[in-house]
Amino acid sequence: MDSKEVIPIDMAKAESMCVCKSCPTYFDCDEPLAFCLYDTGASGCITVGRGCICPGCPVYGASGFESDFYCIVGSEEAHKNPEEAIAP
Ligand code: SF4
Ligand code: SF4
Repeated sequence: MDSKEVIPIDMAKAESMCVCKSCPTYFDCDEPLAFCLYDTGASGCITVGRGCICPGCPVYGASGFESDFYCIVGSEEAHKNPEEAIAP
């Protein structure tokens, strides 16, 4: 089996698997988790990066993601197509 096989993960499942709450950058302002899959921009309240643990998240590995700081920059898609990203 290809070790880089991508497994589609929906938002609800990603939220349950997301490890953001263990990240030094994260703080809880009552937003949904799984910023990597947001289609509405980035977090509206997290603005200061203090490290990102996304590469250790099961969603990250399963989805074949390559970026980080999704809470601040926006989704994986927004990283790849910044001109289509929605400002937070
Ligand atoms: S990759 Fe990052 S933002 Fe996405 S679910 Fe995992 S910890 Fe959360
Ligand atoms: S997206 Fe990355 S930097 Fe932001 S809270 Fe999640 S793990 Fe931390």
